[in-house]
Amino acid sequence: MPEQFDCDTCGRSVTADDAIRRETMGDLDRTQWQTLCCPDCGDRLRTVFVGPDG
Ligand SMILES: [Zn+2]
Repeated sequence: MPEQFDCDTCGRSVTADDAIRRETMGDLDRTQWQTLCCPDCGDRLRTVFVGPDG
């Protein structure tokens, strides 16, 4: 079962595959962390660890 994130802004349920991936803000290593964003409204859903191999 794929992981899903509920968007607080528009209420959409977004799978990790559907989410827009962006670089994180702040000091996190961009090769290890990505921010998942809602494909509908663009709001940030969650910051996820992707590891050194992406
Ligand atoms: Zn949204």
